[in-house]
Order: sequence, then C-alpha cells, then structure tokens
Amino acid sequence: MIITKQKELKEILKYLEGEKKIFIIGCGECSTTCKTGGEADIKKIKELLEKEGKIVTGYCIPNAPCIAAQVKLEVAKNRVKIESSDAILVLACGLGIQSVKENLRFEKPIHVGCDTLFMGAVDAGGIFLEKCSACGECVLELTGLICPITRCPKSLLIGPCGGQNKGKCEVDKEKDCTWILIYNELKKQNKLHLLKELKPPKDHSKVTKPHQLKV
Ligand code: SF4
Ligand code: SF4
Repeated sequence: MIITKQKELKEILKYLEGEKKIFIIGCGECSTTCKTGGEADIKKIKELLEKEGKIVTGYCIPNAPCIAAQVKLEVAKNRVKIESSDAILVLACGLGIQSVKENLRFEKPIHVGCDTLFMGAVDAGGIFLEKCSACGECVLELTGLICPITRCPKSLLIGPCGGQNKGKCEVDKEKDCTWILIYNELKKQNKLHLLKELKPPKDHSKVTKPHQLKV
C-alpha cells in the first residue's frame, strides 16, 4: 500500500490562492486506508476550505485513481461540476495525482493535497510500517525474510555496522538492529550458512528510474 499524509491546510490554501471553486478528487484505496483521501477526509477538508471562503463544487472518489480508466470514469460522471470549478485538489498519492493530470482532459489547475511517504504494510495495531523499497532484486530469501535495504537505515547488505549496541540500532536506539534480527531469524531457521556465502554485488541498474513493465 502507498502511504500518504495530508498536507497542512496552510500549504493547500497557498496552492489554491486566487481560486474560489474547488473540486476534490480522493482515492478509494490506499488514501482511504491512510485517512487522507476517503469520504470522511474529503468532508473534513471541504468544511475547512469552506470556512476559508472556498466553494467546494463536489468531489469524487475513484476506487484507484492510479488506474487511468477509473479516473476517466469518475471525471465523466462529474464533468459539469468539474467544468464549473476553478481548480481541482487531489487527495491521493503521487501516482494518483499524476494519473489525474494525464486523464483529466480539462484545462483546470490541479493541486496536490497529500505527501507520499512510502510503500507500507499495516500491522494489527493499525500502524503503517515501511518494509520494502522496491529495489528490483529481492534478497529476502537470503535474509530470513527481513529486508536489510529498507529496515536498516544504512541499507547494509552484508551484515551489521559497528554501531549496533546490545542489539539496538545506532541510528535509532529504540529500534532493533535489523542485522541482529536477520541473524536471529537465520539461526532459528538453521540457515546461518547463508551469511557466509559470497554474494555478487547488487545490481543497482535495476533501480534506474522510471520503471516500466508491460504485463
Ligand atoms: S530486498 Fe527489500 S527492498 Fe528489495 S524487493 Fe526485497 S523487500 Fe523490497
Ligand atoms: S545498527 Fe544495525 S540497523 Fe542500525 S544502521 Fe547499523 S546495521 Fe543498520
């Protein structure tokens, strides 16, 4: 899931300067789960914008605004309201925002309402955790299914730095050192020999951007 955080109202208002009538596009998937672009979040920001003298002409919540067809469908359904607006505010991740830009087909300014933070998993307590950085060449098989690239602040691939202290990370003392976790996990699985294997250098060309994949 893509984790987003709504921008401060002050920043959004700066973007909307000189524009009175605003149409809002949210997201029915990740941004709804993150409470940044679902119906309740849109209603909340609508109220705040109205207090600041804006008119919210309407809103729509494509199931997944990162999917072009979803944006086109919702835009078609809301064509009149969007045409009567001065601008559009998108409460979605960077993918959704760019997809709205590419599929809108109206000459309207589009504004960014959220910051996109990371690709995250949600734990049982509802906390979003970054566990994968989409490096293009997964090493989890060799690391006890714990990602050193994302979970070690230095993205070390061959073992702990000298800074770990009693199993805690030198960068964030509240957190366990990822490489100690990896060691313990491999030990539990009787796979400590994996740590001794010589591995080829990571192919960083696999993270060359922008990626494109046809399925
Ligand atoms: S190694 Fe880590 S960052 Fe790379 S794909 Fe696997 S989980 Fe994601
Ligand atoms: S202490 Fe462990 S988790 Fe922290 S930066 Fe060093 S190797 Fe990475």
